[in-house]
Amino acid sequence: MDLDDTACYRAIATRDRRFDGRLFIAVKTTGVYCRPVCPARTPKRENVRFFASAAAAQEAGFRPCLRCRPETSPDLGAWRGTSNTVSRALALIESGGLDDTGVEALGDRLGVGERQLRRLFKQHLGASPVAVAQTRRVLLAKQLIHDTQLPMAEVALAAGFGSVRRFNETFHALYGRPPGYLRRSRRAESSAAAAGEITLRLPYRAPYDWDAIIAFLAARAIPDVESVRDGTYARTVHLDGAAGAIFVQRGDGAFLQATVRFPRLASLPAIIARVRRVFDLAADPSVIGAHLAEDELLAPLIAARPGLRVPGAWDGFELAIRAVLGQQITVSAARGLAAKLVALVGTPIEDARAHAAGLTHVFPSAARVAQADLSRLGMPRARIRALQSLAQAHVDDPALFSVRRNLDAAIEQLCALRGIGEWTAQYIAMRELRESDAFPVGDVALLRAMSNLCGSPTTAQEMLKRAEHWRPWRAYATIHLWASLAAAKVTRTIDAGAATSSRPRATRQPKPAPGSTTERAAQSGRAPASTAMPSNVAPARKSRGASNDRRRAA
Ligand SMILES: [Zn+2]
Repeated sequence: MDLDDTACYRAIATRDRRFDGRLFIAVKTTGVYCRPVCPARTPKRENVRFFASAAAAQEAGFRPCLRCRPETSPDLGAWRGTSNTVSRALALIESGGLDDTGVEALGDRLGVGERQLRRLFKQHLGASPVAVAQTRRVLLAKQLIHDTQLPMAEVALAAGFGSVRRFNETFHALYGRPPGYLRRSRRAESSAAAAGEITLRLPYRAPYDWDAIIAFLAARAIPDVESVRDGTYARTVHLDGAAGAIFVQRGDGAFLQATVRFPRLASLPAIIARVRRVFDLAADPSVIGAHLAEDELLAPLIAARPGLRVPGAWDGFELAIRAVLGQQITVSAARGLAAKLVALVGTPIEDARAHAAGLTHVFPSAARVAQADLSRLGMPRARIRALQSLAQAHVDDPALFSVRRNLDAAIEQLCALRGIGEWTAQYIAMRELRESDAFPVGDVALLRAMSNLCGSPTTAQEMLKRAEHWRPWRAYATIHLWASLAAAKVTRTIDAGAATSSRPRATRQPKPAPGSTTERAAQSGRAPASTAMPSNVAPARKSRGASNDRRRAA
């Protein structure tokens, strides 16, 4: 716990929102634990205990409050920048890292021993890794009981409980009653199969720059697989051998509203984890912003866009393929190529609501990309070989794009793949691995943004040196710098809801004047500045794949 008891008590006495998700209060006399914002009367000081996580409170035998509903507090993981190992472990647990294996295997993936991992969890969260995983399940179940009409057996499955019995036992132990007692709604139960979908609120820590993230996703949306229309991001989903679609929009409070249409209920926790990753819901912008604003160059950027997030990726393989497709060409040309690839080897999906949103296919699997005849893509043969060897590498190692022990190890392993250079590796680390310190330093737009701010040309070395002070949040500095370019270029189109229009932003890019930076960037194989957040597709440093390409093009 990074707060003393006096500060904690003041936070609950004033119902301070800034502590929501970072602090939980247990009341000894009632056995209940609460959020700092709980509307119930503030308990006497001698009756309360403070915890750094819901899991710690639950491990100590307290049950979640039915009034303030701890499951609806922002689920923050990335703010714990003080221990990247804990942040990485939380991300792994969220995507099911403890469902089939134990803490030792989790530690192996992160390069730490089981005892050390337990010690780090105790220090930063006050709970064991297993308690964290268990609490996640309980809180998701509680949310499903409140917010949906799913029958209890389906709640158990969708919350990640292996069996209905385990679910019942867990809730009995917590509440002394069966889980159904928590449901206050009298509406009839309705199975997920009948409704066809589950809609959930996914809370975040405000502020949240929805327009920026939706514009970023719109500019890169793969036709037929993803779409942004009327303020809703939609995409098809392929997971655990089943296919479906998700729809995400802004809620009317500090939450996003996600609708999941998926036939396999047990996949729900994994789908939620991915939505949270794409929309960067684990970030605490106040902590990150306060740190970055210590640099006087960044301070005005943070003040202008305090809720900017790092857009995550839905799937590592899809992101890597997109990155290779986008090398040397513009963002919108890369979308065109991705669309061709989907038409060639993607799998059609049958779902009326998905079709209505313009979604017809799921992104092709690695196995299909590895084996298909891709000559019709109209790409240089070297690039096709790079795509297929990447796909084969993913077939051989399904964990290829998962969290590593540290950023350097991740970059080294990604750079060993054909077609992936330093820039692409940093980009994958930033968007798929959620490495908050990933930093595509050679990026041409990043350097341009920095030069604009400094008022004189900046080299990559100078930037790296300055960025030492931005650690461990260099990915967020990157997003702010990209956004500063966009703000300087197209101040007008960013506002007024342009970002949420159904037309992809990339199509509105002004045609660059001959010899402009944008065009030169495109010609030199670097991504031009897109309107919302520029430059995300091409390596600025030479990678093996990129240099092959240049030779072929020449
Ligand atoms: Zn409460």
